[in-house]
Amino acid sequence: MHVCIVGAGLMGLTSAWYLHQAGFQVTIIEREAAVALGASHGNGGQLSKGLCAPWAAPGTIGTAVKSFFRPQGPLRIRLSTSALQWRWLWLALKNSGAATFSRNRTDMEALARYSIAEWHALRQHLRLQFDQRDEGITLTLQTNDEWEKAKRLHAHLLNRGQRAELLDPAQLLQLEPGLARSSLNFTGALHLPDESSADSSRFCHELSGHLIAGGVDIRFNTVLQAIDSHGKNVRALQTSSGLIHADAYVMTTGAWSSPLLKQILKLPVYPVKGYSLTATITDSDSSVQTAILDDHDKVSVARFGNRIRVTAFAEFDGFNAKQDAKRLAQLRVMHDARFPGTADLASAETWCGFRPMTPEGSPLIGPTPLENLYINTGHGTLGWTMACGSARLLTQIMTGTPTALDAAPYSPLRYTALPS
Ligand SMILES: Cc1cc2nc3c(=O)[nH]c(=O)nc-3n(C[C@H](O)[C@H](O)[C@H](O)COP(=O)(O)OP(=O)(O)OC[C@H]3O[C@@H](n4cnc5c(N)ncnc54)[C@H](O)[C@@H]3O)c2cc1C
Repeated sequence: MHVCIVGAGLMGLTSAWYLHQAGFQVTIIEREAAVALGASHGNGGQLSKGLCAPWAAPGTIGTAVKSFFRPQGPLRIRLSTSALQWRWLWLALKNSGAATFSRNRTDMEALARYSIAEWHALRQHLRLQFDQRDEGITLTLQTNDEWEKAKRLHAHLLNRGQRAELLDPAQLLQLEPGLARSSLNFTGALHLPDESSADSSRFCHELSGHLIAGGVDIRFNTVLQAIDSHGKNVRALQTSSGLIHADAYVMTTGAWSSPLLKQILKLPVYPVKGYSLTATITDSDSSVQTAILDDHDKVSVARFGNRIRVTAFAEFDGFNAKQDAKRLAQLRVMHDARFPGTADLASAETWCGFRPMTPEGSPLIGPTPLENLYINTGHGTLGWTMACGSARLLTQIMTGTPTALDAAPYSPLRYTALPS
């Protein structure tokens, strides 16, 4: 059985791995000249089953309205005439009630837990080295409201059986001594000791080496132009290098999935832009020790070997890939407000990328209306966390073997009953 996968980011490569292990002959096509040049390149690097919740939540409308008055705030929405944008916002609103939020969060947590277990197994099995760090994630808090919210999250995590610890400011400094020189006042933190961080781009490069060695054919500079279907089946993919025929096809095209699939399925996957900078650490002891996510500024700081990755912002502005100099300056300021003078920010690599976001937060894994076409996309802010589990689940669906978790909440067909 020959499967052709479109896209060589986290979803494409992990899907290729598990499908190949299950006996498929695998071809991957990728329009770029290398793996991981989409969202999988410069993300925040955090793998978290505990800080895993949809953005559509009670209070979302208030946050969205406030964002219009804070153009340099973490969230920026540029309203447009795009039907995709309006449909996405409408569905996000529909999903922001307390009961829906709770259900969506449960679905995301289940996949994240499964995925992180698979990630640990895979990295051990292949002995992959990609600057992984298992020092936990620390959610830092700057207001009393955030502290109260963290207390509720702490109780929720303990209820789920996950280790988590509330820290007062002095305990936070023991864990992150570098913050002693911070200009910020922390009210405390929530530390999740069992979480990890790692460089997903390095992971993709390492995994692609194993794929190629195992016989997977990765074709770079090959653009999918159209899906040629007949009746209930895909006949071929029209690409910039000609037609590609296979028995089955998997779309792992991240934020570009909605436009590419629009003739087949109206998917509300919106490209939500984020920024990062990656810099060499110059003072290791005073730099970040765990991985930090700041609840107030919505910025994350992770450490990959001798490099630091600072990530922030969510912009709804279509596929505008321009790097805004003000946003990059903000990233530098946010780093130095925490760990001043500990990294060579002047020569940092700057990046922006598009999170493939669904309105409810859960990704899209499984079949489409065409019998031999499958999807694995829509992982939004948590694609690194969910990659291995999603790919494994997709493989179970495609091979008709029992799924490790209920696949229904992740079905790409969940929107077919809705008006487009
Ligand atoms: C700023 C930011 C921070 C993030 N932080 C985290 C984090 O801390 N933790 C976490 O778990 N997740 C995080 N994420 C999310 C995670 O990075 C994504 O969910 C994940 O990378 C998506 O992987 P993907 O393979 O679906 O998409 P991508 O990596 O974007 O891959 C899609 C691929 O499809 C290719 N493609 C598209 N169209 C075509 C075509 N027509 N023909 C051929 N190829 C095509 C693209 O070139 C691309 O290589 C973050 C994302 C961003 C943007």
